[in-house]
Amino acid sequence: MTDMTEPRPGIADRLSRMIQLPTVSAELEQRGTQPFEDFVALLADLYPLVHEKLALERHTEFGLLYRWEGAPAASGGPLVLMAHYDVVPVDESDSWTHPPFAGVVADGVVYGRGALDDKGPLVVVLEAVENLLAQGFVPARDVYLSFGGNEETYGHAAEEIARVLHARGVVPWLVVDEGGAVVDAPLPFVPGRAAMIGVGEKGVMTVTLSARGEGGHASAPPALTAVRRVARAVDRLGPTTFRPHASKAIGRMLGELGAQTPGIQGRLLRLLGAAPLVTARVFAALGGEPAALVRTTVAPTMQSGGTAANVLPSQATATVNLRIALGETTQQAVLRLRRRIRDPLVTVRVVEASEPSPESATDNAQFALLADALAVSHPGVPAVPYVMMAATDSRHFHRYAPAVYRFAPLDMSNAQRASIHGVDEHVEIAALERGERFHRALLQRLG
Ligand SMILES: [Zn+2]
Repeated sequence: MTDMTEPRPGIADRLSRMIQLPTVSAELEQRGTQPFEDFVALLADLYPLVHEKLALERHTEFGLLYRWEGAPAASGGPLVLMAHYDVVPVDESDSWTHPPFAGVVADGVVYGRGALDDKGPLVVVLEAVENLLAQGFVPARDVYLSFGGNEETYGHAAEEIARVLHARGVVPWLVVDEGGAVVDAPLPFVPGRAAMIGVGEKGVMTVTLSARGEGGHASAPPALTAVRRVARAVDRLGPTTFRPHASKAIGRMLGELGAQTPGIQGRLLRLLGAAPLVTARVFAALGGEPAALVRTTVAPTMQSGGTAANVLPSQATATVNLRIALGETTQQAVLRLRRRIRDPLVTVRVVEASEPSPESATDNAQFALLADALAVSHPGVPAVPYVMMAATDSRHFHRYAPAVYRFAPLDMSNAQRASIHGVDEHVEIAALERGERFHRALLQRLG
């Protein structure tokens, strides 16, 4: 395929102007909706062809849905490219090298809140579409751009867009949203670069455990006060509460990483990849992130009870946050908690629950397309599936669209990944250019 497209210069300045609008969804009350409205107007300004050729619909206050009609013979479901334009707040006490909303461009780098999460990934989508439109390109399928303005506050913009498309009978063939990136050393013991592509995300559930007691003076306590009962319940929910289980994605991840890792380490990874039972045990034993990849985790986050130092507590509660592994359900998790607690006087109440997503396949045409586009933008970097621990807007599509992948085609060092939701968030201009190339290649190969 020949490629006549010359990317329009100025990508860094356009991202800079987006960063200068403080679209902080968690500070909507203080800042108002003006930055969000300004952002929508800025998009029209920066991407004239997108706004001339694509139809734009707004869903809820903060959801933008662009539709790019495919070639007349186009059949099958559309491609949906997702991103969000809201950002998380900046902690005033942090000192940034460049002010977080100044959009400073220096030494080939764009600095500021949102550079990586998620205005950088949004820019590379729009750049690719604008550049292709300039060439008169028509995609082989319909393409939707779905941008939400309240992802960071678990808002409903993306959920509503997913609902509207579903109601219209539109089932996406492929959905790409934020999540993984092109990273160095994807696992602590694996060197080299890899494009980590999230094929699913864990569910989240918060429960409270509570118990009531007799109360009374602390000088003659019964064996089990309310506080002791709840403490015992929390203690019974140790790391082994849920059985480890390695999903297909984990096996494929280890196989892919093993294929590019030399020597004995590579062989070990490939062996692990082919033995899910062993993988589950080994990762669980490693603890921390590896363990969280293979099991539902239980984290007690808050505990309270009692009113005075010398009074028996009449009630006590604990709050426990769970991340539900793929293939399990929140309902099963509640049953398991009750069984482990073994105390009918401890009440388990679900405060919030969202199910884990399904797992997207890696042996299909959609995953192969992502790998093909990657070969153009990031030659030699393998596409490696994994499971995300955090929630993304794409989960709303994953309820009815089977091929949903969480991947922003940007290079991110470990320090850069740590700067997301942190200090000194920044992206290299060269990484943005490769990201634009990725989406352009993806759109060109949709046929
Ligand atoms: Zn994000």
